Amino acid sequence: MTHDTDSPIDGQGLPALEARLREDLKFLCWPGKDWVPTRDGVSDVVIIGGGMCGMVAWLALKTGGIHNMRVLDRSPEGLEGPWLTYARMETLRSPKELTGPAFGHGALSFQAWYRAQFGTKEWDALDKIPRPMWMEYLQWYRQVLDIPTENNVAVDLVEPEGDLLRLHLSGAKEKSILCRKLVFATGRDGTGQPNIPGFVQGLDRKFWAHSADEIDFANLKGKRVAVVGVGASAVDNAAEALEHGATEVRHLIRRKEMPTINKMMGIGSFGFTVGYASLPDEWRWRFMQYSFSTQTPPPHGSTNRVSRHPNAYFHFGKAVQTTVEKNGAVEVGFADGAAYEADFVILGTGFTIDPLSRTEFGKAATNILLWQDVYTPPADEPSRDLGRFPYLNDDFTFREKVPGTAAWLSNVYCFNYGASASLGKVSGDIPGISEGANWMAREIAAKLYVEDVSEHWQAMLDYDKPELDGSEWEPADLITESEKGEVA
Ligand SMILES: Cc1cc2nc3c(=O)[nH]c(=O)nc-3n(C[C@H](O)[C@H](O)[C@H](O)COP(=O)(O)OP(=O)(O)OC[C@H]3O[C@@H](n4cnc5c(N)ncnc54)[C@H](O)[C@@H]3O)c2cc1C
Repeated sequence: MTHDTDSPIDGQGLPALEARLREDLKFLCWPGKDWVPTRDGVSDVVIIGGGMCGMVAWLALKTGGIHNMRVLDRSPEGLEGPWLTYARMETLRSPKELTGPAFGHGALSFQAWYRAQFGTKEWDALDKIPRPMWMEYLQWYRQVLDIPTENNVAVDLVEPEGDLLRLHLSGAKEKSILCRKLVFATGRDGTGQPNIPGFVQGLDRKFWAHSADEIDFANLKGKRVAVVGVGASAVDNAAEALEHGATEVRHLIRRKEMPTINKMMGIGSFGFTVGYASLPDEWRWRFMQYSFSTQTPPPHGSTNRVSRHPNAYFHFGKAVQTTVEKNGAVEVGFADGAAYEADFVILGTGFTIDPLSRTEFGKAATNILLWQDVYTPPADEPSRDLGRFPYLNDDFTFREKVPGTAAWLSNVYCFNYGASASLGKVSGDIPGISEGANWMAREIAAKLYVEDVSEHWQAMLDYDKPELDGSEWEPADLITESEKGEVA
């Protein structure tokens, strides 16, 4: 446990913290000066997604003086992201001190928010951040910065229109809107979808769910539950089923041993954050492929939450191959020839990255350049999953597979987990998110400026406000020494 000394903000309440934050922002002349020439009826930037990434992207852009922006989220207010929907862990995995979306403002951090309300002792006593509390903090973040997220608005399709992008919407008063730059802050599955293995194809939906689905856990009371996988979401769902009275919960795990080392967390540093994108393909692939193959272990607390139940089991070396309905239950068949009967199957199989599974790109999804189009890994570093990640420019934008077929993709920014193969850990997990937002905002601002250079040039020519009015100096004749002599 850490023991912190009192901070003047401890226990002073949120209004005091908010006043401090406002003062800090004022001292920094926030928000930045508005500098982008207006185009009637066109947003400079639209951010899809009002979760953590969308909000910190908004803050970064606003800090840089980009104001003509919209943030759209299809979820109802307060339900953005996974935190109060399908995330089922008791606490975050990340340490409580993480600064996440604070964007360099101490008063905007989770720590400040917590200490202002509960004081030093409670902060000392806090182990990990309770999951619903993280969402409470994100809601406060939105409110204190006055982020104008438009909820219940979905972006269904993006299409090019000249040098602009037309977004087709549902839930908004407009059917479609235009923008210059588009940010996909669409979440963990924001460039993909839940990973549904082929072995549940044909199995009645009443027998299975993905961990990202809404699951009626009360209905699992007295049932035998199979959980495929042992990642973070798999164990969280297993724990929920056990706590709701499942007769037994069995983790069916393909690998022979439990992953125990969180490699990516271990090597996290400012150097990795800023250096990864500059590495050649070979190195980027090597880091990511190794991380995929070693796998991230489930968190310590979440695993104990399962293990404390005597009716929880971890079965290793059990690769599921088939699921068949039999006598009102599911017979699960394994690669080793064994079989097991469950009443319900939960897929803790994570998410795939695959732009083709996103409807927002329409047919253009096939034009998105992927790692598998660009890089052939050595035989001992294969990964089909990694091959399907988009191969991005180093400004977060998508690239077209065939030059000249979808140039507009270079106005679309991938600010979600899909960017990690190309740019590292700066657009998904909490720790690197402010670095990522700052980086992307600089790139967007630079592009907007370059595109409008003739208007900026004209503005320079037109600028005629004098800094001096002529009263500040007197012109004087220059008399040389020799001239002085002549006069004498
Ligand atoms: C179960 C779970 C637990 C996690 N736990 C941790 C953790 O402990 N520590 C950590 O560092 N990271 C964790 N992560 C990873 C990461 O922090 C979260 O995924 C986080 O939510 C990412 O924020 P985001 O803003 O990118 O996405 P989200 O919070 O998911 O927000 C994306 C938003 O985009 C909206 N959206 C998507 N498509 C559209 C569309 N077409 N139109 C309109 N709106 C759209 C969605 O409604 C959603 O609100 C976890 C992820 C998951 C899934």
